[in-house]
Amino acid sequence: MNKPQLHPESLMMSYGYKPELSEGSLKCPIFQTSTFVFKTAEEGKAFFEVAYGLREKGETEELGLIYSRLNNPDLEILENRLTLWDKAEDCAVFESGMSAITTVLMEFLSPGDVLLYSQPVYGGTSHFIEQIITRFGIKVISFDAKDAEQDIIDRVEKSGFGNKVNMVYIETPANPTNQLIDMVMCKRLANRYSTEERQTLVAVDNTYMGPLWQHPLKHGVDLVLYSATKYIGGHSDVIAGACLGSKELMTRVKGMRTFLGNMAGPWTGWLLMRSLETLKARMNVQEKNAQNVAEFLINHPKVGEVFYLGNIKDENQQRIFDQQCEGTGAMVSFEIKADKTEKGAFKFLNSLKLMKLAVSLGSTESLAEHPASMTHAGVSPEDREKYGISPQLIRLSIGVEHQDDIIWDIEQALENV
Ligand SMILES: *Cc1c(COP(=O)(O)O)cnc(C)c1O
Repeated sequence: MNKPQLHPESLMMSYGYKPELSEGSLKCPIFQTSTFVFKTAEEGKAFFEVAYGLREKGETEELGLIYSRLNNPDLEILENRLTLWDKAEDCAVFESGMSAITTVLMEFLSPGDVLLYSQPVYGGTSHFIEQIITRFGIKVISFDAKDAEQDIIDRVEKSGFGNKVNMVYIETPANPTNQLIDMVMCKRLANRYSTEERQTLVAVDNTYMGPLWQHPLKHGVDLVLYSATKYIGGHSDVIAGACLGSKELMTRVKGMRTFLGNMAGPWTGWLLMRSLETLKARMNVQEKNAQNVAEFLINHPKVGEVFYLGNIKDENQQRIFDQQCEGTGAMVSFEIKADKTEKGAFKFLNSLKLMKLAVSLGSTESLAEHPASMTHAGVSPEDREKYGISPQLIRLSIGVEHQDDIIWDIEQALENV
């Protein structure tokens, strides 16, 4: 029988690892070493020639192991496994999601360039874009899910910097209200702003949906970014990040990573490989549980608006969902009804018995938080209102507990409101 094209979940335990190179160890060991021994001086020279781009790597040649800031087996095997979910040519792993994002922005933007980005984005990303890269002569222009393509084109036109747009950076769905940004539209915008000398790139923060429920590369996106702290790590015990894309672009990302020195360490790499073995099993349960939670909330008399990808009311948002999402995710936000303050929301959060009151998401345990005063405290009151981040809004990240127990917890907490 022919060997079928194996699914990523079948390869997560073995892909890219050769036991015979590690004393037959079934699992990939933690290569806790800063540097690697060359067999000969000639070999060391050859490795450096490739690492420093002094010559092209041969067809079958693998980049030799040199020093753990450049490469390490735990990182390389992890990176190879991560490429399978997004069908990417290459991947780079970082010590945090923020370092993956900031490294990409620094590598591809130069003084005079314009970054077109969606709002709202993750708080750390928003700070880096608005407060830090602007100090280096980079202009930034934002848009949101309510803007039509022509609105964005007009805004860029009015700025007078249209020929300088070098990157479109988006986060979809947006946190915490699950507003979707159309990736295909972003690709069209990027093509519009590309010139003979350079292609304008599209980068997507896929933390909320990846790597299972949304595959941006399929829609023409150039770079996919992750906080691997979330679903990929999945156990709330490690901070990490990743970037995926073509070999060509990833060579540049990895080059910048080498000089910023923000690669993940071997222990982080090992932990993430362990997490990837159960990624699909975990995410499937989380998605199913979230469906049940959303259904419960939608029908509860004390609950107002429910923001959930399985409960989209807007026609255009539904079109984007059908075009680019392959699942409804495990994030559910909702408002306490008939309350315009944080009082009811706080009462709910303080009454939870199983779910933990903490920020972050995508992990095995269910978490609840209050965006307006926690994750989005740095957003201006006007923008909070514009993006639906009301004082009565609560964000839930649903875990792998028994669905009856999660719903019992929500029900008893709502009784106290
Ligand atoms: C958490 C998060 C980040 C930042 O990742 P860290 O691993 O905390 O550095 C970026 N984007 C999104 C959407 C996130 O949820």
